[in-house]
Amino acid sequence: MATEADANQPEPASTNCPDCAVSPGKLHDDRCDVARCAITGYQRLGCTHYGTACNTRWTGEWPGSAECIEYGFLIDLGPGDESMPDLNRLYIECDWDVDRQRMVRRSS
Ligand SMILES: [Zn+2]
Ligand SMILES: [Zn+2]
Repeated sequence: MATEADANQPEPASTNCPDCAVSPGKLHDDRCDVARCAITGYQRLGCTHYGTACNTRWTGEWPGSAECIEYGFLIDLGPGDESMPDLNRLYIECDWDVDRQRMVRRSS
């Protein structure tokens, strides 16, 4: 695997993309299951755009989970368990903001 010449610090394997295994800050592999389309915000594997123009970077967390935490869209898994980002609700109540590359709440 290629390593960045300018990044000397070791990157923890646990934060790499669970599908294509890129490290945080790098573009997903072209056929990555996790990557979102930069234009629609939906899964990139299902989008119809040609080429790599709509590829997005792996941030170190599942796409949308930061927005879920920010908006309070969380599924309570009960005592002792951490709550889980409610990604379904995110896609129901929010729209993809192309400029900001994140999901934003609909201003009804
Ligand atoms: Zn990936
Ligand atoms: Zn696309």
